[in-house]
Amino acid sequence: MIGPNSVFADFRCPFCHALQSARRMWRAMGSTRGAGHICPRCGHELRLCDAGLPRYRLLCAVVALSSGLFGMWGASLFPGLTFINPAGVEKLNVAGFVALMVLVVLPAVGACQRILKVEIVE
Ligand SMILES: [Zn+2]
Repeated sequence: MIGPNSVFADFRCPFCHALQSARRMWRAMGSTRGAGHICPRCGHELRLCDAGLPRYRLLCAVVALSSGLFGMWGASLFPGLTFINPAGVEKLNVAGFVALMVLVVLPAVGACQRILKVEIVE
C-alpha cells in the first residue's frame, strides 16, 4: 500500500520508476534472490541496499532532534498547542505534541529514507 511514508521515502523502481510501498521495501532490505519486493508494474524483484544504513541512522537522529526543536519553536507561535506550567515555562500540550509529530518530525524522518538506494535483485 502506498501511504504517506511511501511518498516521503520516494522509493522508486530503477527500471520503471513506479513508486513502491516503503513498508514492503524495508522488509526486502538486503534480501537475496527470491525474498525481495516485486514491482507491481514491471515485475522486477527489488530490494533496499543496506550499505547506506549507518548513514541513514545518523541522519535520522540529527534530523529528528533538529526538526523536533524547530517544531517546538513553531508550536509556540500557536497558543492552542502549548500551555504555561506553574514554573512559568511554556510546554507542548497533547495536541501540540501530536501536531509536532505528524506535521514536522515524521515527514522529516521519512524524507531521510531518500538516501537509501533501491536496486534490482540479480
Ligand atoms: Zn518496476
